[in-house]
Amino acid sequence: MPAIDTVLAEQLATLARQGLRRDLRRVASPQGPHVRMEGRELRNFSSNDYLGLANHPALVEAAIRATRDYGAGSGASRLMCGTLTPHYEAEEALAAFKGTAAALIFSSGYSTAMGVIPALVGPADFVIIDKLVHACCVDAARLSGAKLRVFAHNDLNDLEQILQWATGRAELGRILIVTESVFSMDGDLAPLKPLVELKEKYGAWLMLDEAHATGCFGSNRRGLAEAAGVSSQIEVQFGTLGKAIGAAGGYVAGSRTLIDYLVNRARSFIFSTAPGPAAAAAARAGIEQVQGAEGAARAATLWQRVAEMKTELGSAGWSPQASASAILPLMVGGETEAVELSRRLRGLGFLVPAIRYPTVARGLARLRVTLSAAHTTDDVQALGEAISVFRPEPDSPGASLVA
Ligand SMILES: *Cc1c(COP(=O)(O)O)cnc(C)c1O
Repeated sequence: MPAIDTVLAEQLATLARQGLRRDLRRVASPQGPHVRMEGRELRNFSSNDYLGLANHPALVEAAIRATRDYGAGSGASRLMCGTLTPHYEAEEALAAFKGTAAALIFSSGYSTAMGVIPALVGPADFVIIDKLVHACCVDAARLSGAKLRVFAHNDLNDLEQILQWATGRAELGRILIVTESVFSMDGDLAPLKPLVELKEKYGAWLMLDEAHATGCFGSNRRGLAEAAGVSSQIEVQFGTLGKAIGAAGGYVAGSRTLIDYLVNRARSFIFSTAPGPAAAAAARAGIEQVQGAEGAARAATLWQRVAEMKTELGSAGWSPQASASAILPLMVGGETEAVELSRRLRGLGFLVPAIRYPTVARGLARLRVTLSAAHTTDDVQALGEAISVFRPEPDSPGASLVA
């Protein structure tokens, strides 16, 4: 049998040939609009820290205080050794923020999905997901053992056909629809109002991933469900504490019964050490910032920067497709080309990641520009200027690297 490293090195070489190899890069500064990476200062258009809270003094201070008062570690699973006060406080703040009876935090958004979906549906049931949901929902839907169906992206006719077919075949009558409110790699929005009407018509449950909407959408920045006026009709709202909220971890918000049930059935909650007190305290502070006047001001700045960036990109010959969020995908097409474009931009002082298979489909590689309230107009203009050198070919998603 060949040695493990021989086998793996071959596979890595294949990935590299296909433009699909990924590597970590060391950052020697906090996350923010500018980062210090490998000895250079880069303008950062890669993070999901939409409101610029990741290094906010209120969150940093809350994490330090919680560490001093409750320690660095949380000891065990909460069912084993009890729940530390910062976790309770974060959950209370979350439920109040989301307007639900209760909430539960997990160590990540990924592990939230992995715990929740298999707790809600199993082999006798159906789980129906949008084609473009995040990997965590795909993995969790598979793990659940439920009959898995995929509907075309945001296509409610397709979803209805699947619902018609599944209704009557679901032995226990359980059909779970899983979708995202803001899609992570395209930045477009789910048609939430008609989607909710449809799931009500068929008596299905809806689990909504608000990872990229929480903190950004809605008059209280609760998410797209708030903006669409459908929060109270969504059975399971979930997301991450690591994006606009500025900390780390995942959450579910919903009824008291849902949360009590998940405490008993979500395996990634039950069999995992609770997040550290610092993370929970930072999340609570982040939620407070999002809800307050500063959150409102930061969200307004974010949307202003998004509008400026769209103008810059438009005049540089790039159109960020159907985006209606702070995620602006610049379609390139080829994996190797996208990586090359990202590398050249890094050379010019900009961190803009190339998104490739398996994050998106093959041949749909792109640069993913994300904006933050912490960016300045100067940051935006500088990127616009840099990227105008690389013009996409007209009528094709392939960027010709003119420069
Ligand atoms: C980031 C993300 C997650 C996972 O959240 P983490 O806290 O990073 O694990 C889930 N869903 C979507 C759409 C995401 O973008």
